Amino acid sequence: MDKITPEQRSKTMSRIHSKNTRPELIVRKFLYANGFRYRLNVRSLPGTPDIVLKKYHTAIFINGCFWHGHVCQQGRMPKSNVAFWENKITRNKERDEEVRDKLRAIGWRTMVVWECQLKPAVRQQTLEGIVYLLNEAFLDLYRKKSAVIPYYGSNPDAEQRMVAEETPQYGKND
Ligand SMILES: [Zn+2]
Repeated sequence: MDKITPEQRSKTMSRIHSKNTRPELIVRKFLYANGFRYRLNVRSLPGTPDIVLKKYHTAIFINGCFWHGHVCQQGRMPKSNVAFWENKITRNKERDEEVRDKLRAIGWRTMVVWECQLKPAVRQQTLEGIVYLLNEAFLDLYRKKSAVIPYYGSNPDAEQRMVAEETPQYGKND
């Protein structure tokens, strides 16, 4: 027998589908407190990502484990209506994958944070992991940008600044 009644199940479902879920709020609050700025539920991007950090070209999805088919305790299938749930969740997973492919194709990084990764025991580690990946994304973007800006030679302004900086008068009046 399934321990969860259909009523409870549908309540869980509606909560997973609604905006401003608790897991989402945990991530948002942490990012904001650490100086990251973001937009929510951005419809102009594939899959309407939950949290979008434009400066980092990163879209974050906060996924409910059951609904998105995570392999963990919370993602376990109910024991009734197995075919129904399997079918539904398989479709969700396929759609998630498509969305990530589309985002990557237009140069966005994607991050999935699972609901179970925000349980108190592992929450801090997860949140720090998000910051690590964001910094990595930023460095990557910075490197790409640097690569197309000519620092020497072809940029007269940069050259002049370099020359000015390389002829300091040290020592005379020290
Ligand atoms: Zn999970």
